[in-house]
Amino acid sequence: MDILLMGPPGAGKGTQGALLAESLGLPKFATGDLLRDAVKRGTPLGLQARAVMEAGHLVGDEIILGVVRDELAKPEAAKGVIFDGVVRTIPQAEGMERILTDKGRAMDAVLFFDVTDQEILSRLERRRAVEQRADDDPAAVATRLEAYRDQTSPLLAWYEARKSLRRIPAVGTVAEIAARVRQALGR
Ligand code: ADP
Repeated sequence: MDILLMGPPGAGKGTQGALLAESLGLPKFATGDLLRDAVKRGTPLGLQARAVMEAGHLVGDEIILGVVRDELAKPEAAKGVIFDGVVRTIPQAEGMERILTDKGRAMDAVLFFDVTDQEILSRLERRRAVEQRADDDPAAVATRLEAYRDQTSPLLAWYEARKSLRRIPAVGTVAEIAARVRQALGR
């Protein structure tokens, strides 16, 4: 089963994605984590992505589709993947669809974690105090929210047209939201 988690920065995709991966026994793949790790290790991918990420912009579609292809070529991805924030533009959605189709697969569900901008801003402020991520500073946060609004949110209609979108109200306790996720997946 292939599942995409969508939602603005700070919506809780990472937390719920980890729980879901555990309960379904599937690997979770987050492009944000992979890119941050590449930056930390100073790999060619990291060197390419660093400035773009720190400013809060989106990394190029071809780079993202390349890492998606690599990930899906791994044996542990054969039964499905929980994709956490991996598709953020229409060209990425189209590319992902092609890659999955070639494997006889499709995105079985797209979970949209719905949270207000106000809630996002206060969550990211708290996270910044704890994690000190370079891209949680106020200017980069504003750029990320803008990138989300302009480039990622059009995907909601794209996936809705393909009948795979499920909306999860994402304010509440971790357990409450996890229960909504299970319900949305019919489990
Ligand atoms: P957030 O969900 O708060 O944006 P992530 O950790 O998921 O944080 O992503 C951090 C950064 O990594 C993004 O701001 C962007 O620069 C880059 N990134 C991650 N996934 C993608 C993607 N699918 N397309 C383009 N850029 C991405």
